[in-house]
Amino acid sequence: MLNALSFDLEEWYHPEAIRKSNLRFERFSQVVEATTPLLNLLRQYQVKATFFTVGEVAEAHPHLIEHILKDGHELGFHGWSHDPLWALTPKSFTVEIERFLNWQQQTFPGVRSPGYRAPTFSLDQTTAWAVRILYEHGFAYDASVFPARTWLYGTPEAPLHPYTMSFDNPAEVMENGLLEIPMSIFPIGNLRIGFTGGLYLRALPFAIVKKLIQHTNNIGRAAILYIHPWETYSHTPRLSLSPGGRFVLYHGLPSFEKLEKLLQVFQFSPMQDVFLHSAQLKIYGKLF
Ligand SMILES: [Zn+2]
Repeated sequence: MLNALSFDLEEWYHPEAIRKSNLRFERFSQVVEATTPLLNLLRQYQVKATFFTVGEVAEAHPHLIEHILKDGHELGFHGWSHDPLWALTPKSFTVEIERFLNWQQQTFPGVRSPGYRAPTFSLDQTTAWAVRILYEHGFAYDASVFPARTWLYGTPEAPLHPYTMSFDNPAEVMENGLLEIPMSIFPIGNLRIGFTGGLYLRALPFAIVKKLIQHTNNIGRAAILYIHPWETYSHTPRLSLSPGGRFVLYHGLPSFEKLEKLLQVFQFSPMQDVFLHSAQLKIYGKLF
């Protein structure tokens, strides 16, 4: 079965734990150095992926975006500023989307990102207003729902398979809503845990991740990997965050080799190929 491979294309200083820390530090760019080895790896294994890009990163590094598009990858949107939806309003979110779409139209005419992933999976009941704005701006899918409770985010009531999402509540199914592709979760009794990205993927042994992806595939679902270039890069700066923040951000870095091992075992494609152009949608019939 095809699984989805996605990267959140952002700088090493974009994560929420750093944004909220109030630390003073130099915000130098490392995204090109961190992403180029990934693009080489994908080319080596002839794998295409989705890159959900932060708008200000795309604007500052058009050659990197050009490289991504030339290699045949899908370009998604990950917010203009990487501020989570919790820190935005309907008005400022609309400004972010329109700024990105205008930039895309001017810089790469004919390219249109089909999908959006909110920074820090910040789409939940409190930010449900974002769903209609995405829909009205022509996004074909959203990939911002993390259907489990975590220390920072989560919509634990949401379905675990693709569904059409209500404009009033991201956890609810609604006919003719926006297609939601929720993050892969492994349910154990009442518990739901992530295993395909971020700290989960870095902390879990490879053998466990492999088994959980196989289990997901065995029940007819594609798994979605989500990886940040800064997680895979050996020169990512380590800030003096709180012990919890350091653990969440830096434990298990760099994860480049783990990604390569996954590419050797599983087949991956971009989000839209796995979920929009394949039998995945048919499995769920009308998606609700
Ligand atoms: Zn992000």
